Amino acid sequence: MIETQKLSKRILIAEDDPVSRRILERLLIKWGYDVTVVQDGTSALRVLETENTPRLAVLDWMMPGMEGAHICQLIRQQTGRPYVYVILLTARREKQDLLKGLKLGADDYLTKPFDAQELEARLRAGQRILDLQDGLIAARDELRFSATHDFLTGVSNRGAVFDAVNREYSRQARASGTFGVILADLDHFKKINDSYGHLCGDEVLKEAARRIVTCVRPYDTVGRYGGEEFLVVVAGANESVTLALAERMRKAIEVEPFITDCGPVAVTSSFGTAVNTNTASSDPKMLVNLADEALYKAKRLGRNRSEVCVVA
Ligand SMILES: [Mg+2]
Repeated sequence: MIETQKLSKRILIAEDDPVSRRILERLLIKWGYDVTVVQDGTSALRVLETENTPRLAVLDWMMPGMEGAHICQLIRQQTGRPYVYVILLTARREKQDLLKGLKLGADDYLTKPFDAQELEARLRAGQRILDLQDGLIAARDELRFSATHDFLTGVSNRGAVFDAVNREYSRQARASGTFGVILADLDHFKKINDSYGHLCGDEVLKEAARRIVTCVRPYDTVGRYGGEEFLVVVAGANESVTLALAERMRKAIEVEPFITDCGPVAVTSSFGTAVNTNTASSDPKMLVNLADEALYKAKRLGRNRSEVCVVA
């Protein structure tokens, strides 16, 4: 958030008239802006197309290279980029011209010679719009995150991890290759809850998720499948890669006790893995069921181990 605020104080001036340019620059520096100055339309567009563009711009209408209004039109056509609030500066007083500028995407305009106080007030209004927009985007991102993530552990929720399985499945249907799923279950988790309480159980779940996440690659997905069960989607992996990853997670959980508010708690976990080698013979749900069967086997054989199941 601090980063956004710092960036939003930056402003671009594009003005070919040296006198007007100097006045603008001096005023904006006085008002605390971090000012980038260019003298023609082409340079202005270049600045506005950079990754780290100033979010406020004062563009002269008539400039060599490209008109301010045309620059507006071009940057408005680019979607998925940070919004730039544009004030057009114009010597034209004809209403039709101003309407055209606004229609092409300018947010506001000032006629030259401009009044300093008016410019300052309009820039403040622009900044208010940008701050509102940033707030809305942050709220939207937060909603999106909470809709797809498990509140307690921060990993994907059940719906999102199933989406990841489906995604890998259709990717595999298009191209050849395999992928794996791992179902993890904390051993005797009920005992932890019974002896230490549910708050401690929550701490254990969080720490287990954290340790599992440290083992995976950036393109794998970790999700909370149920109470103390985690589902991991291992992109592009064969049987041995998937099993090796499960073993790495098992060891990461076993290696040292979890430090909780109730003291250290020794935790172990069991893993079932399945790799989809033939899409024609199975579906995403069936693959997870196979991992579940393998997990069941790991439990039956004494827990704190990993078992494999392969689709024929
Ligand atoms: Mg000019």
